[in-house]
Amino acid sequence: MATVTETAVVPVPKVRQTKILIGGEWRDSVSGKTFDTVNPATEEVIASIAEGDKEDVDLAVAAARKTFDSGPWSTMDARDRGRLIMRLADLVESNAAELAALETLDNGKPINDSMAADIPLVIDCLRYYAGWADKIHGDTIPIRGNYFCYTRREPIGVCGQIIPWNFPALMAAWKWGPALATGCTVVMKPAEQTPLSCLRMGELALEAGIPEGVINIVPGYGPTAGASLVKHPGVDKIAFTGEHLTAQIIMKDAAMTLKRLTFELGGKSPNVIFADADIDAAVAGAEFGLFFNQGQCCCAGSRVFVQESIKDEFVEKLVSRAHERTLGNPFDTGTSQGPQIDQAQFDKILAYVEKGKAAGADCLTGGTRFGNKGFFVEPTVFNNVTDDMPIATDEIFGPVMSILSFKDTDEIIRRSNNTFYGLAAAVWTRDVAKAHLYAKSVRAGTVWVNCYDVFDAAAPFGGFKMSGMGRELGEAGLNNYTELKTVTMSLD
Ligand code: ADP
Repeated sequence: MATVTETAVVPVPKVRQTKILIGGEWRDSVSGKTFDTVNPATEEVIASIAEGDKEDVDLAVAAARKTFDSGPWSTMDARDRGRLIMRLADLVESNAAELAALETLDNGKPINDSMAADIPLVIDCLRYYAGWADKIHGDTIPIRGNYFCYTRREPIGVCGQIIPWNFPALMAAWKWGPALATGCTVVMKPAEQTPLSCLRMGELALEAGIPEGVINIVPGYGPTAGASLVKHPGVDKIAFTGEHLTAQIIMKDAAMTLKRLTFELGGKSPNVIFADADIDAAVAGAEFGLFFNQGQCCCAGSRVFVQESIKDEFVEKLVSRAHERTLGNPFDTGTSQGPQIDQAQFDKILAYVEKGKAAGADCLTGGTRFGNKGFFVEPTVFNNVTDDMPIATDEIFGPVMSILSFKDTDEIIRRSNNTFYGLAAAVWTRDVAKAHLYAKSVRAGTVWVNCYDVFDAAAPFGGFKMSGMGRELGEAGLNNYTELKTVTMSLD
C-alpha cells in the first residue's frame, strides 16, 4: 500500500501578493471583500485574497484598453517587446524555487513536479514566445490588376484570460506568452482555488519592465469576476481553459459582443496498448499518463485500452506500480502524489468510485481516502470496465484509471472515438504502420506514440470536438491573438 512520508524537506514559502493588479497598482477590491485560498494538503487557510467582481473587472479592462489603445506596448518595436518577455522568463527562472513552492502550497502538487515540470515549462513557454515577437508578419499577395496587396497581422486587442487550478503558473504562461508577443494587453482571472503563483508572476512582470496596464490580474470567482470579463464590451477576445460546461456558458455570454473565443477543455483520452508494445514502457506510460498531477490533467489517459492477449500481465504490473506511488506531504521530495484540489473534487472522485463499483467494474486497488487530513485519494485502478460505464465516459479529473480490453485495430479506432471529447490519445506499439494508422484515425488534437504527456511550447495543443476550439502553443497559438488585415494599394 502507499506509504506516508513525514519529512518536509522544502520550506513553505512566504506569500507576498494577495491583491488585484490593475494598471501597475496592487489594490483591494472595490467591495473590500476577500476570499480564502486553502492548502489542499492540510485544509488550512493560506491567505485571504482580494475578491474581484464586476467593478474591479471594469477598472482592469479600462486599464488594459487604455494601455492597448495608447501604446507603448502595442506600438513598441517588436524586438524590444520580445526582450521584455525574455526578461520576465529570466526572472521566473531566478525565482523558480519560490514559485515552485507557491504552486505546491496552493495546488498541493508534489514539489518535485513543480520544480521539474511546471516552472521549467513556464520559463520555456515565455522564452519561446519572446522569440516570436519580431517574427510575426503578413504576406504580399499577387492579386489581379495594378495593385500592391499585402497582409498585416495585428494584435487582437484586450484579451480576457480565464485559467483553471491544475497548472496555475503554466496556464498563465501559455496565455501570456502569445498575447504579449503579439502586442495584446491582458486581464487575467486565475482560478479561485489557486491565485498565488499568478499574482507573484504579475509582480515579476512589472519588475521585468513590462509596462503598467499590459498585464492586469483580477482574482475572484467564475460566475462573478469571470462572467463580467466575458460580457465586457471592452474585451476583444476570451481565452479560456476549464470545463466544457463552463465554455458553453462563456460562449453564450460572449455572443452579444461576438468576441473571439479560444477554448481548451476536458477529455477522456484513450491510451491504447497493443500486444506488440514494449509492455514495461507502456505500463510506465499508463501510470504517468493518468496519475501525473493527481489525475488532474485535461489530457489524462483515463481510458486505458489493452489488447486482450497481454491484459493480465499489464494489469498485474500496473497495479504493482500504483502501489509504489508515495502519497503524503507535497513539500517532501519523496512524495509522488499530493492531494486533490478541494473538497468538491475529492467528493466527486469518490462518488465516481462508487459508480464504477455499482456498474460492476473491479476495483483492484485504491478507491478510498488516504490519511485523515487533506484531500488525498489513493491511486485507484478499475479493471473489466466497459464503454458504457460512467467511469469510462465521464471526465473524473482524479487518480482513477479505467482499464478496458480490445481485440483488433478497427475496433479500437471506433471505440477510441466513441466520445464527445477529442483532446488527446496515445498508442503503444512497435508496428510503425499501425501507429500511423491509429494517429491518422483518432479524432484528437494530440496523439502520442510510445510516450505520454510530452509537451513543448512549439507544439500546438488543443481539442477536436467538445475538447476545445483553436490551439494553444506553437505558431498556431500565436495566430489566435492576431487579426489579419488586408491592405490593397493602387499602383496607377
Ligand atoms: P474546473 O472544474 O477546472 O474548476 P471551471 O470551468 O469551473 O473548471 O473553471 C475554470 C475557470 O473558469 C476558473 O477560473 C473559474 O473561476 C472560471 N469560471 C467558472 N465559471 C465561469 C463563468 N460562468 N464565466 C467565466 N469564468 C468562469
